[in-house]
Amino acid sequence: RFEPYWNYRMLALIDRYIKQACASDRFETRRKVLAFALLMTICVTVVADILNVAAHYTLHALGWLPYDVVPAATVGVIISTVVASALTFSIVYIVGLAIHHLTISRAAFEHLSRTDMLSGLMNRRAFLDEVTRAPAASSLILFDIDKFKAINDRFGHDIGDQAIIAVAHQLAEIFSQSRAVARIGGEEFAVLVSALSPTERLSLAHRCRALIAARPIQAGKRQVDITVSGGVADQEDYPTFEDLYKASDKALFVAKASGRNCVVHSKDIAVILDAHKVATM
Ligand code: GH3
Ligand code: MG
Ligand code: MG
Repeated sequence: RFEPYWNYRMLALIDRYIKQACASDRFETRRKVLAFALLMTICVTVVADILNVAAHYTLHALGWLPYDVVPAATVGVIISTVVASALTFSIVYIVGLAIHHLTISRAAFEHLSRTDMLSGLMNRRAFLDEVTRAPAASSLILFDIDKFKAINDRFGHDIGDQAIIAVAHQLAEIFSQSRAVARIGGEEFAVLVSALSPTERLSLAHRCRALIAARPIQAGKRQVDITVSGGVADQEDYPTFEDLYKASDKALFVAKASGRNCVVHSKDIAVILDAHKVATM
């Protein structure tokens, strides 16, 4: 009656152990697998030898051992050492290697599912995961390549892709210390900058825009100028990420409306819109 229950418990324990091992770095390298197999081999062999000696002496005490106890136990220990160590090492090493391969493919799959294949940056899903863990002192910067459709139309889709890659490299370089740099849409990028002061975070965005504008890419013999517009908002000013995102997006919209190739902070939106009203009156 109890057997299926215990079988089930054992399987559940093994299942949990393997899942934990895959998620941790326990079997990350072959060296770690080897070390674990050797440790298990020593433990199992010592237990097997102790049980073997205990069994011999118990049989001897009961008068059921037809040989001298010392040579019988010695031969028993030699046999149990060879059998237990060979079996334990083979089984644990083979199972350990299987877990090692699972760990590697799990990590590779996890990486692929969080990475944008064209740019190598985080994808939208990974970015949204990351922002939930962002500290309060952060800024969200949204960048969008200007007139990107025109680049595609004039130079072809491949050059369009090259432009995305060039912008991604520039972002990764400038924001190398940032928590999250992502391509969140076709030609749209998001950066979550933590630490630093709000002014320093904003000046990084300005610097990035200027560097992208200063580094055109080559399309055969022709040069392709790439510019981006950016919208910035500080988490300190907004209660939720949704509000923060809306504020950055609005700032980006104002940057586009102000002629593109510029970065607008959400705090400056009202001033820019007022100036625009005055200019168009
Ligand atoms: P704006 O300055 O207002 O942002 O104008 P825009 O032309 O950049 O914006 P729009 O949204 O009109 O065009 C975006 C284009 O991006 C349309 C789409 O075909 C192109 N696109 C989206 N994803 C990719 C991609 O992965 N590779 C390439 N080459 N083009 C893409
Ligand atoms: Mg866009
Ligand atoms: Mg665009």
